[in-house]
Amino acid sequence: MSEKCRLCPRDCKVDRTQTKGVCGMPEEVYIGRACRHMWEEPPISGTRGSGTIFFSGCPLKCVYCQNYSLSRGQGRKISVRELADIFKLLEDAGAHNINLVTATHYTRAILRAMEIYRPRVPVVFNCGGYESISTLEMLKDAVDIWLPDYKYALPLPAQEYSAAPDYPERALAALEYMRKLAPRDIFDENGVMQKGMIIRHLVLPGNLQNTFQVLENSVKIVGRDGFFSLMGQYYPAGEAAKFPCLSSPLKPLEYKLAISRAEKSGMKNTFIQSLEKNESKYTPVFDGSVGGEIYG
Ligand code: SF4
Repeated sequence: MSEKCRLCPRDCKVDRTQTKGVCGMPEEVYIGRACRHMWEEPPISGTRGSGTIFFSGCPLKCVYCQNYSLSRGQGRKISVRELADIFKLLEDAGAHNINLVTATHYTRAILRAMEIYRPRVPVVFNCGGYESISTLEMLKDAVDIWLPDYKYALPLPAQEYSAAPDYPERALAALEYMRKLAPRDIFDENGVMQKGMIIRHLVLPGNLQNTFQVLENSVKIVGRDGFFSLMGQYYPAGEAAKFPCLSSPLKPLEYKLAISRAEKSGMKNTFIQSLEKNESKYTPVFDGSVGGEIYG
């Protein structure tokens, strides 16, 4: 298909059958791994795991990406038919949902795969939050649960760490739109989410003002009864060592202050992490494999 790519706010307008845009990926689909994931938020992983597909490449390319090699393109090429088969395989393995990780730049292929096989379990769109409304509109009937990152509410870190000074305004508009698409959070009898939205935020060392602003905005988006995941797993990955604030793991005191602010925000459903997980050994291996589970 020859089409100028405008799937995300980078708006590269390139023909990805011929060349690559900021996300670094052609029109064909590349994946780093597909497996059941046991360590997503409890309503996503449940007891049998989330059927997670880690897609290669990324429009944001944060300098500290915790899945650095994956975001820079590591992975294996698969066909749209294989992608549909993977949906089915994960579902047959008992996954509670199909969890599409950083899939924005593959939106067209995902929609084609769903024409071949529409998962019977909920579909989770697990994205960086830097989204175009037109792409969310394309996805609205395919996605049941929106799981966006909300990385930056301030333009300075957005520029410095992701070269995207417009991230705060783009993410705010995208997250508000996702909430419109999924205004209610719905769970099954075991507490596994069927429809809804969870906002995720990775607390960055030395950037607590950004976290505080993210929290203030998030409560306005999802409401006090909405779901928010405050992630403390940061460790210096990728090019983080070049940035003084990012060159060491998140300090327990910083995470504590972030938790305290989350409590004060009035949000009743905030997921908190154990800081034991902020090590590189918890980064999955992206060998292109399909099946099995991680962190079981
Ligand atoms: S998906 Fe990739 S090529 Fe398309 S606009 Fe975004 S960064 Fe550019």
